[in-house]
Amino acid sequence: MKVSFYTSQREYLAKKDEFDRAVQSVIEKGNFILGEQVAQFEKGIEQYTGARYAIGVASGTDALTIASDILGFKDGKEVITSPFTFLASASCITKHKGRPVFVDIDEETFALDVNKIEEKINPQTVGILPIHLFDQMADMDRIMDIAQNHQLRVLEDAAEAFGMRWKGKSGQYRHAGTIADFGVFSFFPTKTLGGYGDGGMIVTNDEELGRKAKYYRVHGASKKYHYDFIGYNSRLDTLQAAILNVKLKYIDDAISKREKIAKQYIECLSDCEAVTLPTLKGDQKQVYYVFNILAKNRDQLAEHLAKNEIGYSIYYPRPLHLQPCFSYLGYAKGDFPVAERVSENIIALPIYPEITTDEVEFICKTIKSFYK
Ligand SMILES: *Cc1c(COP(=O)(O)O)cnc(C)c1O
Repeated sequence: MKVSFYTSQREYLAKKDEFDRAVQSVIEKGNFILGEQVAQFEKGIEQYTGARYAIGVASGTDALTIASDILGFKDGKEVITSPFTFLASASCITKHKGRPVFVDIDEETFALDVNKIEEKINPQTVGILPIHLFDQMADMDRIMDIAQNHQLRVLEDAAEAFGMRWKGKSGQYRHAGTIADFGVFSFFPTKTLGGYGDGGMIVTNDEELGRKAKYYRVHGASKKYHYDFIGYNSRLDTLQAAILNVKLKYIDDAISKREKIAKQYIECLSDCEAVTLPTLKGDQKQVYYVFNILAKNRDQLAEHLAKNEIGYSIYYPRPLHLQPCFSYLGYAKGDFPVAERVSENIIALPIYPEITTDEVEFICKTIKSFYK
């Protein structure tokens, strides 16, 4: 049985007419740049997440870069973030010559270890950039408390966190990305809410920040050909917005299917000693964007999966402090032992709403046969 790590085909075929019509309506109208479907999708995101302002941009990476620029994560200022994340969570700081300062991650959630943030704060520190990774949010209560005590800005990398909600001490569920100054989402195809190409979104509850983000995506223009800032050319494509409008309608169903699949994995693999299953921390609603396990002999297991035509992915094989592009920061192997250890043991198994229970069963059996 061949199981791909991800496929968009099954969803497309199941809703072909709807997707085709959405795309066709854009092409027929020709409203390719910031067409009405973008505004409609932004409104949809505002309603779904509770964010006051949602601004569609070209990618999650651009969303991070623009938000970092507006928050002043630049010019030698320091921003505390994680070494165990996708590149863009840190490159958005360095783009304008800010300095990422890494702290190690929590052993179980793989998010920033909130107990290690404060020791890194100094007069140069201007912000914290937590990442909500894989299936759960970072401890936003602690992070917002620390930020308030030290007057820091916070940018939530919620690229992977669509649908996740933090309850915590406020007693009310708040959607990922809507708690801090800015949050960002990515609509990269594999993401929980994924398009048919690149796409991203900036969200905020602050009117001034929201207005700036809107200017920044059109070259910093407050009105056409009037430039208040040096901005970007970064808009969410109207074709992507049209596709995402269709997907957003079914997102709750997609999220609950992911949860069912995760439950099946957990049930099937719970008696497999060589495998550590995900743990949830904090009072929050998780979403299984990725289903990760920590596995003994990870690389050999990966080979075994490949031999059996099962797709897998490794997020992330090399922490950012050990990447050549960040060598100038002066970190060395051993600086973040948890991140380094996790990067050697982690492996992501296929999870998408359309994967079948037979396929998941086959994957689990194949994993167990490897450890026999
Ligand atoms: C996907 C992702 C991004 C970048 O999003 P793109 O839309 O691919 O640019 C940023 N941060 C994290 C944690 C991601 O997973």
